[in-house]
Amino acid sequence: MSTYIPVIGLEIHAELLTESKLFCSCSTEFGGGKNAHCCPGCAAMPGTLPAMNRKAVEFAIKAGYALNCSFNKFSVFDRKNYFYPDLPKAYQNSQLDLPLCINGLVNIEYEIDGVKKSKDIRINRIHLEEDAGKLIHDDLNGVSLADYNRGSIPLIEIVTEPDIGTAEEAKAFVEKISLLLQYAGVCDCKMEQGSLRCDVNISIMKPTDAKFGTRAEIKNLNSIKSIGRAVEYEIYRQERTLEMGGKIIQETRRFDDNKGETRSMRTKENAQDYRYFPDPDILQVNFTDEELESIRKTMPEMPYERLERYKNAYGLSEADSMIIIGQIILSDFYDNAVKKYDNPKSICNFITGEMMRRINLGEISLEDLPFDAGEFALLVQMADTEKVSKNDAKSIFRIMSEKGGNPEKIAKEQGYLITNDTGRVLEVIESVIKNNEKAVSQYKNGDLKVFGFLMGQCSKELKGVCTPKVIKDELENKLSAL
Ligand code: ADP
Ligand code: MG
Ligand code: ZN
Repeated sequence: MSTYIPVIGLEIHAELLTESKLFCSCSTEFGGGKNAHCCPGCAAMPGTLPAMNRKAVEFAIKAGYALNCSFNKFSVFDRKNYFYPDLPKAYQNSQLDLPLCINGLVNIEYEIDGVKKSKDIRINRIHLEEDAGKLIHDDLNGVSLADYNRGSIPLIEIVTEPDIGTAEEAKAFVEKISLLLQYAGVCDCKMEQGSLRCDVNISIMKPTDAKFGTRAEIKNLNSIKSIGRAVEYEIYRQERTLEMGGKIIQETRRFDDNKGETRSMRTKENAQDYRYFPDPDILQVNFTDEELESIRKTMPEMPYERLERYKNAYGLSEADSMIIIGQIILSDFYDNAVKKYDNPKSICNFITGEMMRRINLGEISLEDLPFDAGEFALLVQMADTEKVSKNDAKSIFRIMSEKGGNPEKIAKEQGYLITNDTGRVLEVIESVIKNNEKAVSQYKNGDLKVFGFLMGQCSKELKGVCTPKVIKDELENKLSAL
């Protein structure tokens, strides 16, 4: 059945991190009581008028920069009309013909069976629009109620060209977009909270076909995993349908996560159905080059820029740099730790080693670490300056991971702090030599293997007093002086 080529285009909705909604000063905070973040404006009471949120426009432009877009310096807001109770105005403000951003490009990199792949995905447009409210269906009383807290929260919709060919590429693309938007500081991209959502358009065609096949659109996928599963199922469904002599109809489908199947929701409406027209109540946007440039100057450091900094200024390997930039929360943590202790390589090694190990074991999560970057940096520094041994540093880290706390305090409490008490070192070595006559004479007769045994006897007593190197040097001294 692999005679078909899948053709996939994505529409990604990302809620912007503005403090207030798109046309009023209501809060955009997630949660809160039902309809707690509502005013007459976002509830569409007659007589209210919209006032565009300047930050939202700026954030959309920043998203455009992050995705290598060009801009429509003259941009218009439209009404997209449809009737549904989650939309009190009975139209959604969106942009049809003159979106803020156009013609972007995003590179994705991913691995299949250990082989690295890279591909450029073209971005058709990014436009600014408003979110709808939420319906809550009360099964008990058989009624549906509307919560408009989410209504009119600013969203950007990112639309790709149909450049995506597989489930792997679709997943890699959404992951990349999520990373870019987070670094740009415009969206937190929490798919589980709905701040990033994805519609997938899929068709299949034969290599010899002159044009694309008819597409189905799968709405509102809310995890990377379900994007992958939905794409795979839908390709399979379309192939099977065509193979059995059926036809693909243009329709909107829903993905059932439990069954792993897509199901038809409705036939697809087109732009005419929505009776788009420019909203006479909303000012058009007119940018000068200087204004766009001044927004560009506020762009935070993007992932590839951090990658360069880590490699060139800090001397990290490509692989380690990739791990750290792969999550902005990790990268921020790393940068903060380096600010406290200026040894980027050492901090990186502890993160990619012991810290990642505990994260992968599920023992700690980056979202709620019980210690801060400063405490972490101090631990790495203590190990580097031999205030604690490398091994004991791991034990201290385990305690910090469980209960949090200051590494110096933990080291003291647990007796890990190296005191470099030379008197004590010599005392222990002398008593070990005295109590192990047989081993000592074996050593003197040339059996160097027993050195390890003697060393072990000393180390047991000298935990937290000095480093293994000091024990080794002193023990060698004493033995050769016999
Ligand atoms: P609409 O707004 O009606 O959903 P668009 O023209 O904006 O339609 O396209 C939506 C998405 O569908 C885009 O990402 C586009 O790349 C993709 N797309 C368009 N035609 C096809 C097709 N035949 N097969 C797969 N994807 C397609
Ligand atoms: Mg669409
Ligand atoms: Zn409001």
